[in-house]
Amino acid sequence: AKTGGRARIDVFDSHLRRQAMILMRTEADLRTALEQDQLCLYYQPIVSLRTGRIAGFEALMRWNHPERGLVPPNDFIPLAEETGLIVPMGRWALREATQQLRVWQERFPHPTPLFMSVNVSGRQFRDDDLVQVVADLLASTPIPPSSLKLELTESLLMADPEQCRALMQRLRDMDVRLSIDDFGTGYSSLAYLHSFPVDTLKIDRSFVQAISSGQGNGAIVQVIATLATILNMDAIAEGVENAEEAGYLSDIMCKYAQGYHFARPAPATIVEGLLAADLAP
Ligand code: C2E
Ligand code: CA
Ligand code: CA
Ligand code: CA
Repeated sequence: AKTGGRARIDVFDSHLRRQAMILMRTEADLRTALEQDQLCLYYQPIVSLRTGRIAGFEALMRWNHPERGLVPPNDFIPLAEETGLIVPMGRWALREATQQLRVWQERFPHPTPLFMSVNVSGRQFRDDDLVQVVADLLASTPIPPSSLKLELTESLLMADPEQCRALMQRLRDMDVRLSIDDFGTGYSSLAYLHSFPVDTLKIDRSFVQAISSGQGNGAIVQVIATLATILNMDAIAEGVENAEEAGYLSDIMCKYAQGYHFARPAPATIVEGLLAADLAP
């Protein structure tokens, strides 16, 4: 029994060691990515359901890996969060997206300026001096502050609601807008929701899918869109994949939609083509 146990431990050890080595290599790779400009942003249009036109974008991070090709965020954001690298990475994304927005606002003037929505992870929200980062950014990049939206998750809000509310209020005082991402999938209580200075609820794709999947209906989407209206917030439906879902959302007066039905996330040059076509009469 004793030798068997030893053998098991050895196998376990070597497995862990290999895992640790893979993680360390990826972490080193990720550092290199940040230093050598291998990160890039894709932009996914967010469409006004009333006008059918592009109202803004969500910036989504990609890693242009020299060997692995284009790596999706689910394959590297968790590690970036664990290692803390998400803080400089997130700061980079915020700057890059804001500068891109500035260019598009100038080139494609809208009565209501185009907006840019940027994901902020919990670690970045807590560890970074986000208020200062955003203030510096707005000082150096002349966009209307209200056209910058930060997407926060419910778990981030509920981890430390008091501290979170104070931070959010300071951002809101600069007129920056705040969204709750994947709304309905976390545990935020309605009582808290009311007290956070939030502008937008992003309705999670799982609820949008129920509209047309045959396994459920649009009831939850409708409840969230109504909740947003009552709380004087906007709603953005995420992951809209077909005309049936888009039609339903438009019928219940959901303000914005985002999803493959309208456009996939794409590099800035591609999105520019969409913007140009969108403005054509
Ligand atoms: P998310 O914030 O919920 O972003 C929406 C995800 O849904 C994106 O995946 C987008 O490509 C995808 N999507 C959009 N429309 C559709 C659709 O019609 N159908 C389907 N099936 N999917 C759709 P992506 O780009 O792979 O990003 C995954 C997650 O990675 C994001 O989820 C977000 O949590 C995280 N992420 C991405 N960029 C950043 C970033 O810059 N910072 C941080 N902290 N997280 C990021
Ligand atoms: Ca998001
Ligand atoms: Ca989301
Ligand atoms: Ca999500």
